[in-house]
Amino acid sequence: MYNTKAYSAVSETSPLSSTTIERRDPTEHDVQIEILFCGICHSDLHSVRNEWSEFLPTTYPIVPGHEIVGRVTQVGSAVTKYKPGDLAAVGCLVDSDGTCPNCKAGLENFCPNQILTFNAPDKHLGGVTYGGYSDSVVVDERFVLRVPTNLALAGTAPLLCAGITTYSPMRHWGVTEGKKVGVVGLGGLGHMGVKFARAFGAHVVVFTTSPDKTEDALRLGADEVVVSRNTDEMQKHAGSFDFILDTVAAKHDINAYLNLLRLDGNLTLVGVSPNPLDVAAFSLIAARRNLSGSNIGGIPETQEMLDFCGEHNITADVEVIPIQKVNEAYERLVKSDVKYRFVIDMASLKSE
Ligand code: NAP
Ligand code: ZN
Repeated sequence: MYNTKAYSAVSETSPLSSTTIERRDPTEHDVQIEILFCGICHSDLHSVRNEWSEFLPTTYPIVPGHEIVGRVTQVGSAVTKYKPGDLAAVGCLVDSDGTCPNCKAGLENFCPNQILTFNAPDKHLGGVTYGGYSDSVVVDERFVLRVPTNLALAGTAPLLCAGITTYSPMRHWGVTEGKKVGVVGLGGLGHMGVKFARAFGAHVVVFTTSPDKTEDALRLGADEVVVSRNTDEMQKHAGSFDFILDTVAAKHDINAYLNLLRLDGNLTLVGVSPNPLDVAAFSLIAARRNLSGSNIGGIPETQEMLDFCGEHNITADVEVIPIQKVNEAYERLVKSDVKYRFVIDMASLKSE
């Protein structure tokens, strides 16, 4: 075991602050990574504030962070894919049973025994896993991703959650050229959704509650932007979408979007509102519409997404902050004031 610096919250009403945590010494299958950048996902905020207490209660202290990029510092004797000095990344998962049908299909994200990067039982040290708001992390090689070397590192970190969470359902539901695709909410996930939908050749429409994001949405790759509070603008798109990705982090009227789907269209929820959403049966039956959900992505698909980003030069638009500004960043996230992902420069932790 060794000590490493981190930022943690000790209760649902506490700010994040500097602390020291223990990490395991790398076992034979482990990779030790010095963390260079870690993205701030809205899920970090939901967990720190225990907003999902009914479904995924938070154990304190919590060290959040699951958009991790860094440099390998040490590897176990059985590790074959990484060596010290390599760039490496870790997303939302650090373990799974490896034997269930979902794991065998490369869908560790749907393994009933998956271990999340933070706030999940730590079978090595006891207690819970600690995430990426930290100097270093030790992860089984199977859950370490290779980073394309042509991409800027800070903008690569958000691919590990915001990237794969939007890439995976679009691939699954066949977002391609000729399809009309909506992205609801232009935050961390939403802006990656726009970039991927564009790269897949779809006609992309952004739905936003923030009129001042219109120009950015077009620059990011949208063909059209709809301010969702304007019902006339919404009505113009009734019954016309093949696919809509809903990334909204709070309770909202999902029927307004279901009604925009064409016959057999699909709306996939990736945003995780702490409060249940109301679905009117008529919104679905009227056009044999589908409502589904999606949870991050499996490890093979996460590597495929990173490689795709390397080939197409896709990274997140980021605002890099020192870790001392993390609580301020959370307040801005609540106000949808993010363009379009906060990423912590972990060098700032060294001065704590
Ligand atoms: P984010 O950066 O805060 O973006 C969310 C966006 O939703 C906001 O920028 C805003 O966009 C819109 N929004 C926020 N509150 C709203 C409201 N009350 N009504 C309508 N629109 C609202 O958050 P994120 O990091 O992208 O995460 C989004 C959600 O996805 C979170 O709930 C997070 O926990 C969840 N998530 C799920 C997965 C998964 O695997 N399923 C993975 C990662 C994250 P506009 O200003 O454009 O309206
Ligand atoms: Zn996330």
